[in-house]
Amino acid sequence: MITGNFEYHQPGSVPEAVALLSDLGDEARVIAGGHSLIPTMKLRLAMPEHLIDLQGISELKNIAVSGSDVRIGAMTTQAELITSEQLLKAAPIIRETALQIADPQVRYMGTIGGNVANGDPGNDMPALMQCLDATFVLQGPDGERLVQAREFYEAAYFTARDDLEILTEVRFSACAGGFSYGKQKRKIGDYATAAAAVLLTKSADGSCTHASVALTNLADTPLYCADASALLQSKGVNDASIAEAVESAMEQIEPVDDNRGPAEFKRHAAAIILTRTIQEAWSRA
Ligand SMILES: Cc1cc2nc3c(=O)[nH]c(=O)nc-3n(C[C@H](O)[C@H](O)[C@H](O)COP(=O)(O)OP(=O)(O)OC[C@H]3O[C@@H](n4cnc5c(N)ncnc54)[C@H](O)[C@@H]3O)c2cc1C
Repeated sequence: MITGNFEYHQPGSVPEAVALLSDLGDEARVIAGGHSLIPTMKLRLAMPEHLIDLQGISELKNIAVSGSDVRIGAMTTQAELITSEQLLKAAPIIRETALQIADPQVRYMGTIGGNVANGDPGNDMPALMQCLDATFVLQGPDGERLVQAREFYEAAYFTARDDLEILTEVRFSACAGGFSYGKQKRKIGDYATAAAAVLLTKSADGSCTHASVALTNLADTPLYCADASALLQSKGVNDASIAEAVESAMEQIEPVDDNRGPAEFKRHAAAIILTRTIQEAWSRA
């Protein structure tokens, strides 16, 4: 349980970090909170020769809400997401989700950037970002580019981020209306057996004007459920449309047998969690 040897680098700015990544090449990795990377290094599943620590880059640690525009710096910790009052007003689903990640010790160190960049299908923030239709800002040797969260995840631990790029910020629009992040897990502090992020907006006449549904840990990547979302929006939210939306979302999932249970159990848990999460979001809309 001891990591391999590595050289430690602490850049003070994003350009400096990008330059280090370019110079050191394949043998270098950035480290944020270290709560996914260090366990992997202790198991020797990752043995980077150079670690580029982002902790000293103050420009990556900020939460900015301006009108409906929300921007969160990559090095913002999960604990800071939970305690931000402006974020609670702009997007309360962030606090609800962050509170269900691991335990306080992990949340004090784990960052939003590390959680979404890692590509671990068990992480909770990627599906949330897809539900919010967030944009990720990537900074590399050729400058900045933007990638939609719904297009970022390619397979487990494979994303649209180039090895030489750093994820610097996530951006999304403030979301009024009903929200819920529901998570089935074996015990406190565990990754999801199945989890769902749901946003629903209700108009004065009771119809659904916006719906967005995404799922965690039910496939190699987070899943944005476009058909289920469209269905709730076009048919309104009632017992029949919820059942139809859940059935549609279940067609997308590809759970596998593991120590969280057999695939069939996960299918069962996912359908229940998604049903309850839609119901809760609608009751708050
Ligand atoms: C016991 C335990 C339980 C956990 N339970 C959960 C859970 O229930 N839900 C959940 O979502 N997470 C869980 N986690 C993971 C935790 O939230 C991690 O902190 C998070 O996934 C990674 O964030 P980090 O800042 O620690 O990143 P790190 O571990 O430092 O990095 C993770 C990976 O992302 C890369 N990376 C980091 N930041 C950037 C960046 N800005 N740009 C480009 N690449 C970057 C690193 O190179 C590395 O490959 C758990 C962790 C532990 C130890």
